[in-house]
Amino acid sequence: PLIDTAAAARAYELDRAHVFHSWSAQARIDPMVVSAARGSHVWDGEGTRYLDFSSQLVNTNIGHQHPRVVEAIKAQADRLCTIAPQHVNDQRSEAARLIAELTPGTLDKVFFTNGGADAIEHAVRMARLHTGRYKVLSAYRSYHGGTSTAINLTGDPRRWPNDYGAAGTVHFFGPFPYRSPFHSGSPEEETERALRHLEEVIAFEGPDSFAAIVLESVPGTAGIMPPPPGYLAGVRALADRYGIVFVADEVMAGFGRTGRWFAIERDGVVPDLMTFAKGVNSGYVPLGGVALGDRIADTFAERPFPGGLTYSGHPLATAAAVATINVMKDEGVVENADLIGETVLGPGLRELAEHHPCVGEVRGMGVFWALDLVRDRATKEPLAPYGGTSAAMTELVAACKAGGMIPMTNYHRLHVVPPCTISADEAREGLEALDKALTVADRHTVD
Ligand code: PLP
Repeated sequence: PLIDTAAAARAYELDRAHVFHSWSAQARIDPMVVSAARGSHVWDGEGTRYLDFSSQLVNTNIGHQHPRVVEAIKAQADRLCTIAPQHVNDQRSEAARLIAELTPGTLDKVFFTNGGADAIEHAVRMARLHTGRYKVLSAYRSYHGGTSTAINLTGDPRRWPNDYGAAGTVHFFGPFPYRSPFHSGSPEEETERALRHLEEVIAFEGPDSFAAIVLESVPGTAGIMPPPPGYLAGVRALADRYGIVFVADEVMAGFGRTGRWFAIERDGVVPDLMTFAKGVNSGYVPLGGVALGDRIADTFAERPFPGGLTYSGHPLATAAAVATINVMKDEGVVENADLIGETVLGPGLRELAEHHPCVGEVRGMGVFWALDLVRDRATKEPLAPYGGTSAAMTELVAACKAGGMIPMTNYHRLHVVPPCTISADEAREGLEALDKALTVADRHTVD
């Protein structure tokens, strides 16, 4: 693509003057201008090309500017840009049908939102009204969104300054073999101890007080920690035992990221509610939602659901979802994510771990991988403190960019989360850039 460098410079100037950015001290950021994007690549304001190993915020699962989705949005804009949520729209109906077909069990009704956080807000509201209870369980090391209930459920330092004690949020530790809070010796032991801990939290907080347990099927932002065998099935059993609504948060893990349509499929577990966003239409137009199983849907058959949004099921967003899901089916995008994970990213990242002392652990699946970076492999001391950053991490990100690749990072971790459509050659190209960049981080290790 042709880049207008003067326009990019002007955009930067206006951004710094007038745009207030998320999660940032405004004077301490230097945001990158993105002037164009195609497939797995983005171009900055100077026309430099980068491989997008971050999928933006882990959402462009079909890559940038897929022509069929762009065309569907244009066609819908010509037909009908917007209608109120109380009316019927063909794109919304078809998007709901496609999603209902992909979700497991009886998750056959869809409430559409504008993104992930409001999907969580509405899922919790449904669970509270369904059960008549108000407390909600969620995990430390989780991210559920930036709005009031969602940020209070989040188990991440971004909750702390927002923590006004949203009524009844209770946190517990999920399983995490590499940094086991339970000092387990095996994944099976981790599952057993994590479930025992969860049941104890329920017992000590009041077994009759919980409306919902909100859990990422594979925790994403907090470190891409695939649950050990049996954990999600165990959570399902506990939810049933105590009459708790199981909300699987598939906002990041869903729609192909793990090499399955939904991550929870890997465990064969069916939640009561499932939240989604991001990959549902690769973020081309904002969209999220809650898929409801029949028990919760039935609660609101005769009783009104007290919730809604002006843009619920927006025609442009749902037209983008219909096109995205059809593209993913026609082009084998989920299968590609699985294959790239099995044949290129998994083996490639494990090989990098062998000769880079800063890599403590490699974990993930599909196009959803984390490198847990450490100063010392023996003690597992992280390369940056929890909730903070370090010179090592800053230099690592700069080295990736210098090598033409944009990773996602969070504290002491680097996440390799390219589009599900990435080719084997592109994935290898990104791994080469990562290999070089990791030598910079190695200098900060004790080995
Ligand atoms: N849930 C999970 C698992 C997420 O990863 C995110 C965003 O990263 C959210 C919820 C919030 O989604 P949104 O930023 O669209 O509100």
